[in-house]
Amino acid sequence: MKQLKGQAKNINCEILGKITFKNVGLFSSKKDLVFVSKNTANFPKGYLAVLTNIENTETEQPAVFGIQNLSELNEGEVVVINTDGNISVLYEIRSTHNAIMATERCNHRCIMCPQPPILQKTDKTEFNLKLLSMFDKSTKDIGITGGEPTLIGDNLFVLIEYIKKHLPKSSISLLSNGVKFADYEYTRKLALILHPDLQIDVPIFSDIDAEHNRIVGAKTFYKTIEGLYNLAKFRQKIGLRIVVHKQTYKRLPQLAEFIYRNFPFVFHVAFMQMEMTGLAEQNIDELWIDPYDYRAELEEAVLNLARRNMRVSVYNSQLCILPESIRDYAKQSISDWKNIYLPECEGCELKDECAGFFASAENRHSKKINKSALSIDNKSYDGKEVYNE
Ligand code: SF4
Repeated sequence: MKQLKGQAKNINCEILGKITFKNVGLFSSKKDLVFVSKNTANFPKGYLAVLTNIENTETEQPAVFGIQNLSELNEGEVVVINTDGNISVLYEIRSTHNAIMATERCNHRCIMCPQPPILQKTDKTEFNLKLLSMFDKSTKDIGITGGEPTLIGDNLFVLIEYIKKHLPKSSISLLSNGVKFADYEYTRKLALILHPDLQIDVPIFSDIDAEHNRIVGAKTFYKTIEGLYNLAKFRQKIGLRIVVHKQTYKRLPQLAEFIYRNFPFVFHVAFMQMEMTGLAEQNIDELWIDPYDYRAELEEAVLNLARRNMRVSVYNSQLCILPESIRDYAKQSISDWKNIYLPECEGCELKDECAGFFASAENRHSKKINKSALSIDNKSYDGKEVYNE
């Protein structure tokens, strides 16, 4: 997420508020608003806090001074301001990747988890409801992530109900390991909310139980499978997610076949290039493979599913290292605030369509990034000619 920093004054506890550049006037409610005062010492009263790029000045109001990148903020965004002057943007008005974190706890320990779970006792539901209440009503997509969101139990349904009622234009993508949905009654409660556009995205890493369990650090393969079947029984929209790395790439074709044979009901299957933060960074030697080197397995898996009319995508991948036959399945999937391109990308005619890189890939990425590969690559990985239309 976007981060800003300045010197805090009169801030004694965390402040959650919505950004405004306009002084709303004497009689309007300012109780949820954070006023941005650019280049002036104009500190109107009644706001939760004032953010400014000017240096420290006399005021009794909560304020953060000397913020260099103040212009990165936009009207209607939602920030949390910490007592040390750190400001995190939790809701970006122009982003299509806004998400709430239901909990930082998790019952898995995935070897490549970009956001390692932490033991957190406090329930974030109240905070998340307040955060959601500040989202713009026209927000199209909201992610519910974690940790593992189902660990907050029925409070997950409170969040989904809230979004259904107060943000009716929003679709929801719930990212869950699926284990809790092995509980039939829990799945039934989710289905009874009747959210019109909810997708439950579940990671699966192998067609072999022991392999999947080793990667997630728990013996839960069959629970996840049971969860998928329960979700299907209640006609929920399911996505499957496969993170590709050294420990998953070899059996991608077999996994694709397993998915087709066992879960033909899923709405979407996404093969994802790994993000190298958190545990992925710590375990990099066990996980890293140049994405160019698994293009054969990826191509076979993607085409296997696509040929059978399953909806399939490739996330987080650079177009120039994908076989041409599967480039159409690539999506721009990296959240704006952590999306970068390399100097090599300058002048690439497909830059606007390419997902680019996670910021964490700046120093470790495929050695085959090459914009000219886009025009000369007319062979598939196995050497057969592929004819361009
Ligand atoms: S050169 Fe850069 S922008 Fe072009 S396809 Fe490769 S990674 Fe994408």
